[in-house]
Amino acid sequence: MEDRPKAVVIGAGIGGLTSAALMAQSGRVDVSVYERMSFAGGRFTQHDHDGYQIPTGAVHMIPHGKKGPFADLILGKQSKGGLDLGRHGVDFLPTTKFACRIKDGKLYRANSVYGILPWFTARDALNLPGLLMKGAKRPWGDETEDGRAWLSRRFSDEFIDFLDAFSNFAISLRFDQMPASTVVRMLQNSFWSDRPHVPKGGCKGVIDGLRADLRENGARVKLSHEVTEILPGDAEESTKDNRFCIGVRRRGRDEGVWVGADSIIHNGGHPNLFEALSNDFEVADGIKEQVRDTQAVGGIGFAFALDDEIPHRGSGVTMLPGLERVGGYVIPTFSDPSLAPEGKHLMITHQYVPDPTVKSEISKGREDLYEAIPWLSDHAEEICVHSYHRNWPCNRAPQGAELPSDIGVDGIRLVGDGIKGHGWMMVEGIASNVPDAVSSVSEL
Ligand SMILES: Cc1cc2nc3c(=O)[nH]c(=O)nc-3n(C[C@H](O)[C@H](O)[C@H](O)COP(=O)(O)OP(=O)(O)OC[C@H]3O[C@@H](n4cnc5c(N)ncnc54)[C@H](O)[C@@H]3O)c2cc1C
Repeated sequence: MEDRPKAVVIGAGIGGLTSAALMAQSGRVDVSVYERMSFAGGRFTQHDHDGYQIPTGAVHMIPHGKKGPFADLILGKQSKGGLDLGRHGVDFLPTTKFACRIKDGKLYRANSVYGILPWFTARDALNLPGLLMKGAKRPWGDETEDGRAWLSRRFSDEFIDFLDAFSNFAISLRFDQMPASTVVRMLQNSFWSDRPHVPKGGCKGVIDGLRADLRENGARVKLSHEVTEILPGDAEESTKDNRFCIGVRRRGRDEGVWVGADSIIHNGGHPNLFEALSNDFEVADGIKEQVRDTQAVGGIGFAFALDDEIPHRGSGVTMLPGLERVGGYVIPTFSDPSLAPEGKHLMITHQYVPDPTVKSEISKGREDLYEAIPWLSDHAEEICVHSYHRNWPCNRAPQGAELPSDIGVDGIRLVGDGIKGHGWMMVEGIASNVPDAVSSVSEL
């Protein structure tokens, strides 16, 4: 088996692990994953806090349920390019509603995408087909209009505010921060897809399934190992037969080791890759500039422990339109009760961050929540608040940035939330890029 080409995956986030699993299932490459943290899963896993499964990032939601690129990749049959992780117990459980909203203290629930229409004006319903049919599979080129301006010419403020709260909750950006074609395509993908689902056992359920699959196929996942350098293979005697020579440092050790690789999947984002990549490799013109001009997107999330008397009994993503900061919340324990201790529920909120002064943003978010959710003060206890920024952001590149997976260096591709297919959000966006990235480095 040692004469197989060596593939190194840098980072054990959902992008890195799914890429590694695809390569390992093919059996054609010898796969190793290096992860600098002491746990796998990156921002798509959880830590147990007295029985509450507190996310490292993702709020336990699969945006497009069983009808999106993520489901195709994770649960799809191998003959169709999927990983078929159902074999390892991975499953997605539907949320109890398609979507909800709280407006003026009142809870509205919709069982399907059409169920939200009665909340808005007749003009909104009449103009919806125009939005859904608009050609937006690719960016519109030199776009001068942002998403909010485009929608404002067709829909009521109330309808746009509801969708904008969803955007705030899901991707930490408002419509006026994205090109119109991105907003249109994202909404189309959401309308045509399934209701959100909760991974069984939370995000870690998927990560555990991926790790079991990697083990089964002989791939290694090395935790607490950081990749610090990427050089040409002939930089070191021990790696001279490989295309790349990779410097790896194990946490707590001063000395690094050199590892040979013939292909690299990088899951840590463009700036991180550029930092490690030696000047021997030429990055395609314009890409460095594009990356320099792209800022990661921050966000803030609260986790609350809820008692079992809460009046909102469901796991549908709930939008809180019109608030200053918070976009919405979800109570995933109505789909998977194992995410909280028996008789309790877990609620997770999300808000965008227009101002980097995180402390005051947290207070503003808390104010929003207690003002908008009438039952919160009687039934909830704050467990923690997480702010996502710098090396642990909400999104390494804002939705619509369209950074490339291919930076012009043969044998290296990026995966993860810095690189998403146009209009695909969150893990759907990551999954939409992974198969191409993997096949172009390993010619599967
Ligand atoms: C608050 C919040 C809520 C979210 N909610 C949802 C949700 O409900 N549903 C959803 O679909 N998405 C959600 N997302 C988005 C989703 O969680 C992320 O897009 C996704 O987890 C990112 O995965 P990734 O593989 O790109 O990166 P990461 O999870 O960041 O993984 C990259 C890994 O690479 C490692 N790494 C980086 N550089 C190196 C190096 N040089 N050497 C070794 N290791 C390295 C990092 O330590 C990290 O573990 C949410 C995100 C946040 C922050």
